[in-house]
Amino acid sequence: MLHPDRLFPSDPTQRDIARRLYGEVAALPIVSPHGHTDPSWFAKDEAFPDPASLFVKPDHYAFRMLYSQGIPLEQLGVPRRDGGETSSDSRAIWRLLASNWHLFRGTPTSMWLTHAFETVFGVTERLSAASADRIYDQIEECLRKPEFRPRALFERFNLEVLATTESPLDPLVHHKAIRESGWKGRVITAFRPDPVVDPEFEGFRDNLAELARITGQDTATWEGYLAALADRRLYFKSYGATSTDHGHPTAATADLPRPEAKKLFDIVRRGGATAEEAELFRAQMLTEMARMSLEDGLVMQIHPGSFRNHNTLVFERFGRDKGADIPSGTEYVRALKPLLDRFGNERDLTIILFTLDEDSYSRELAPLAGHYPALRVGPAWWFHDSPEGMRRYREMITETAGFYNTVGFNDDTRAFCSIPARHDVSRRVDCSFLARLVAEHRMAEDEAADLAVDLAYRLAKNAYKL
Ligand SMILES: [Zn+2]
Repeated sequence: MLHPDRLFPSDPTQRDIARRLYGEVAALPIVSPHGHTDPSWFAKDEAFPDPASLFVKPDHYAFRMLYSQGIPLEQLGVPRRDGGETSSDSRAIWRLLASNWHLFRGTPTSMWLTHAFETVFGVTERLSAASADRIYDQIEECLRKPEFRPRALFERFNLEVLATTESPLDPLVHHKAIRESGWKGRVITAFRPDPVVDPEFEGFRDNLAELARITGQDTATWEGYLAALADRRLYFKSYGATSTDHGHPTAATADLPRPEAKKLFDIVRRGGATAEEAELFRAQMLTEMARMSLEDGLVMQIHPGSFRNHNTLVFERFGRDKGADIPSGTEYVRALKPLLDRFGNERDLTIILFTLDEDSYSRELAPLAGHYPALRVGPAWWFHDSPEGMRRYREMITETAGFYNTVGFNDDTRAFCSIPARHDVSRRVDCSFLARLVAEHRMAEDEAADLAVDLAYRLAKNAYKL
């Protein structure tokens, strides 16, 4: 099912160059500096239970498409918050995916799943209602073997390092267990403080109380709150974290005088902050996080512009991360100025900017990252993590920011078996982009070959200090 020339240019001259460049990077180890896999998989190293639990239930790309065509999330085994009934029949869930496989034609999900079916499980026929049970049985049989346990797959995928993402309130027990197990796989955490810096996050006030409990700091005062965050950052660093991650609705930053920041903190910690006050607080916290990054060296990632939990009914019934997050227009130039006025010229600080708003690539992000030493542009993200999205990214970013203000690829996935597929797509698309530059005599092939290795491997390692 997987053509060896997939995603390469159809023009024969460019295709030959792309093949040669890809030959330089195809077998490089995978560096996965940002994602959302579950560390308990690697801590416990238990067999994945069944194909639906591996491919459907944790993958919001898969179930959002099925939901959009009228299939209830209950039928796809997505757990309900109220404990209400939801399917536990994995084979039935699998058959639903299979009989609706046509919905994924032309989408990256189809490419990722096909890649995993074929390269990981040896499936050689297309998923359909007719093949559903055969493929289910084949994958399930594999999953019972030791070589399909999480750690064995991690090694087979040639993962050099894999970062997960945790809340500051997470005790990191799974990372601790991984470390103590003596297993050599490098699974590290990343610090995602949204639950304790976003006044609109569910349970914000309780989260502050929990933050106080685990750090022994008084989070009822501005100083104590900041000290608690600095403490947790160091704790995360002790479990390998090299980065923080901030999923704010906008890229707004602020640099308030201390008395004003204290006053604002008093308002938000009591609850009942207005939407404007909550936004200003998040904005102030990005600047505080940048200041802490200069002290502790953690690389900062900003992932703004997702309107989270857009579907109120789905949020109330199933909770977060259920495929109901929708991109929105995002402004950076004015939004980041307060932070950049403080820290934009720091050479020892790295802030990686992501966007769900492609309009901002050439107008805002490339010019910003192509000037400020502290800024880099993160790879095409989420809805744009597709062959077309990656091509648009290179076309719109490179002319102003070059390649070296970018940071390689992030798979940013919850679906473990999609990791090799996603990195392979990125490598093929980048090699194809470079092949065009070579064919147009804009770059020598030896430069392109060196650059291909940077894009596939070295840039991510350097930017994320891995
Ligand atoms: Zn992410």
